[in-house]
Amino acid sequence: MGAAPRIGVLALQGDVREHSAVLTRLGARVSRVRRPSDLDAIDGLVLPGGESSVIDKLARAFGLQHPIREARAAGMPMYGTCAGLILLADRVTGAIAGQESFGGLDVVVERNAFGGQVESFETDLAVDGWDAPVHAAFIRAPVVTHVGERARALAALPDGRVVAVEQGNLLGTAFHPEVSGETRFHERFLSTVNAVR
Ligand code: GLN
Repeated sequence: MGAAPRIGVLALQGDVREHSAVLTRLGARVSRVRRPSDLDAIDGLVLPGGESSVIDKLARAFGLQHPIREARAAGMPMYGTCAGLILLADRVTGAIAGQESFGGLDVVVERNAFGGQVESFETDLAVDGWDAPVHAAFIRAPVVTHVGERARALAALPDGRVVAVEQGNLLGTAFHPEVSGETRFHERFLSTVNAVR
């Protein structure tokens, strides 16, 4: 076994600390990504939950949007939760005017899909290929309204709406495993990182 994987957490806004804690617990070397040069020192990138429009705006202001897109196109594994999933989607509906994403996942994601009516909830979800369900926290969460040919759904709500997807080295969940003590998505992400680095 080589040295521990180096994982960056995009640290512009959002639940950076929660992701860092899970990744550290799983044995990764964690650093914060705020500048383009921070990307040079990592094997994989986590895009946290938070507010996708704010993270997008800050990423563009800090000159990070293009470097993140380039790293992704070069094969860097990335895992996005909630706002992070929105940022990885090729298409976003319900975005604010001018909002952009890094893209990569061949999906359409609807932002704030649960509206003001039920803004946050927790539920148990079956994940494709896993024995035990995931306890998932949805916080002003998006859903995947279309899974393109290149992406694959990993989990859906009982009504069929897709809430976890994977495509090559990219993983996205509409919910927050990092706040509910669930580590299997981060473990899956770290295995992808270890397989390609
Ligand atoms: N509603 C937020 C957004 O649009 C996502 C919420 C979250 O990350 N918990 O970015």
